[in-house]
Amino acid sequence: MLQKHTLALCTLALAGTTLAQDSQRYGRDKFRQLDQELPTPNTYRTASGAPGHQYWQQKADYDIQIELDDATQKITGSEVITYHNLSPDKLDYLWLQLDQNMRSKDSDSPKIRTGSLNDSLSVEQLSRMLDVFDGGYRITGVTDAGGKVLPYTINKTMMRIDLPRTLAAGETYSFKVQWWFPVQDRMKYGGRGGYEYFPDENNYLYTIAKFYPRMALYADYQGWQHKQFLGQGEFTLTFGDFKVAITVPADHIVGATGTLQNESAVLTTEQRKRSAQARTASQPVMIVTPQEALDNEKEGTSAKKTWVFSATNVRDFAFASSRKFIWDGVNQPVGGKNVLCMSFYPKEGNPLWEKYSTKVVAHTIKTYSKFTVDYPYPVAISVHTDQIGMEYPMICFNGGRPEADGTYSERTKYGMIGVIIHEVGHNFFPMIINSDERQWTWMDEGLNTFVQYLTEQEWDHNYPSRRGPPRNIVDYMKGDPKASPGEVKARIEPIMTNSESITQFGNNAYGKPATALNILRETVMGRELFDHAFKTYCERWKLKHPTPADLFRTMEDASAVDLDWFWRGWFYTTDHVDIAITDVRYMRLNPADPLAREKVAKAGRDAQVADLSNERNRNAITETVVMRDPSTLDFYNSYDPLTATPRMQEAYDRLMARLTPEEKALLGKEYNFYELSLENLGGLVMPVILEWQYTDGTTEVERIPAELWKTSDQVTKVFIKEREVASVVLDPFLETADTDLDNNAWPARLAPTRFDLFKQRDWNRPNPMQMERKVGEMKGQ
Ligand SMILES: [Zn+2]
Repeated sequence: MLQKHTLALCTLALAGTTLAQDSQRYGRDKFRQLDQELPTPNTYRTASGAPGHQYWQQKADYDIQIELDDATQKITGSEVITYHNLSPDKLDYLWLQLDQNMRSKDSDSPKIRTGSLNDSLSVEQLSRMLDVFDGGYRITGVTDAGGKVLPYTINKTMMRIDLPRTLAAGETYSFKVQWWFPVQDRMKYGGRGGYEYFPDENNYLYTIAKFYPRMALYADYQGWQHKQFLGQGEFTLTFGDFKVAITVPADHIVGATGTLQNESAVLTTEQRKRSAQARTASQPVMIVTPQEALDNEKEGTSAKKTWVFSATNVRDFAFASSRKFIWDGVNQPVGGKNVLCMSFYPKEGNPLWEKYSTKVVAHTIKTYSKFTVDYPYPVAISVHTDQIGMEYPMICFNGGRPEADGTYSERTKYGMIGVIIHEVGHNFFPMIINSDERQWTWMDEGLNTFVQYLTEQEWDHNYPSRRGPPRNIVDYMKGDPKASPGEVKARIEPIMTNSESITQFGNNAYGKPATALNILRETVMGRELFDHAFKTYCERWKLKHPTPADLFRTMEDASAVDLDWFWRGWFYTTDHVDIAITDVRYMRLNPADPLAREKVAKAGRDAQVADLSNERNRNAITETVVMRDPSTLDFYNSYDPLTATPRMQEAYDRLMARLTPEEKALLGKEYNFYELSLENLGGLVMPVILEWQYTDGTTEVERIPAELWKTSDQVTKVFIKEREVASVVLDPFLETADTDLDNNAWPARLAPTRFDLFKQRDWNRPNPMQMERKVGEMKGQ
């Protein structure tokens, strides 16, 4: 009998894995390896995701001199670029990026900008539509090291310099470029660099980037990266060493990529003393105090000062300059080295900026170094200017401004801390781990947003992180891949979409990849395997140029988890997660002991609902044939098929005599069998997480790997429980971004959505700090 039952169980379990023809195709699609999508490995990039034994990358060193004219908001510069051809290839020409040309009159950016008319139009919008700003580089000279003119061709945002003779592998070439360009009013025309103007005091705050012609990247995986700059896709650049001399009005304070080389020429003795203090301080130290900044911003000067910076092995250089800057700094040790973390901000940033900025910079450097690689640079800087968040090596420009009365909303506070973590975090992705932003926005934004989430949660358990928690991406994941261009908000695209073609930039390139990595860490791989593999990717590609394949391959290579299904579903498709419990069958084994079996069977029969006609007939028909004529009775009128017979009992006794004590114990248990029917409605395969609630009040969580779906999007699975189940819930901790929770429970559960009744919304409500102040004032009266 035991054997018989075992056989019955096998049949039951096998039924769940029966292959239908179309489900075979399903399995091939969802779990097919990414061989066709990923590039063929070679000696530069291995199949394990690591740099190959012949990996190479170019180097470009810069010696730049520029002057910022505060009266006309113009930058004039000259640079000597020394280009090292470390590739095995011969080069006949060099490509440079002229990103400023995106602001020139004949730029493609406004031409390809789509738009529609609404009921109202702001002056700023009209200015942008009319495109009145005449920006872009004016190239005034391109010569070789000896001053001989070099032929060059400008194709919009790219410039080709034709070399007098082929640059062979291993050779170096130096040349000089001279230029000027007008800096744009960033508050009016937007952009990732520019100036903020303070009309009340006639002062400017400059955050300057892409201010010099920059060497385009020449790499093994694509040759020159010279896709035009259209305004959305950022960039990737060659690593190199920089020496930059920046001439500004004498009352300006300058923060820049790299270390200041001539403190004695630009700072007072007192400021230099404070700067030295900051280098070892555990709490931020003022280097330029609020009072000194106030004095600086009162009146202009015609005198000039030149600030000299040097930076090693960076892919870009940016700086900020203003007479309004307050400047503080603190030391953050990382991997046995000290990092000077600093902030530059105008008084308008306080009280938020002096309270938080530098501490957030230090916390970010420390936390990112733990999850990725040790921060390799000597300084990390956060600069405040309104309504921005933009990153460069060692320096970034961040918004987050309190009200004029010094109060701020919770949103402003966490927005400011969040943007600083994010932009300082960009040092790691893509400044150190130098992925190609113009091609793949998600490789820096997504990875950075993921570590930003980890860093926010280490700042405060209650940090209101926007991106990372799976439930926050659900609305986007419900999007329609076929939504028309007019319904951009409803459209979802694969993460593997070129940066210029993404419609929902934030959700596609930041939110979805960050959430995917969080799910990979918490739900698919587990923290230990994930953290090791992610760190391995970062260590392998620090100060190098990784591609998506290098990340996908390394995460598998370092963890022994086949993730092709995960990359395919989350990164190459627009599928979403919606797993449903469509049916539950509950079965129990009959007891082996014939007497017990009889009891159960009879109880079952007694519990059956009586047939209605039969019930009525018992009263209506007072005498049936068998009642009237006993000769119509035989054996079967008294036989009960449910009654145990002596022969059954003998057979049972013989069986029991043959069983081992373990087999007897097994037979004695009262198992509950549950057959769950599950359906993958969203298409994105995911592990199945079940929370069983038992009738005795206890619960149990069971995690089933995504490979459950390897053959079909409709599966049944049998669960054997010693306790009786009251209910079962799918994804109880909301960790998979399941878009429909109504089909996640058995028995079905409906969660009500609450809504408010209101008379009239008050949009101009004071922030909670202002309300608190008002209460205080009223009490004081
Ligand atoms: Zn970013």
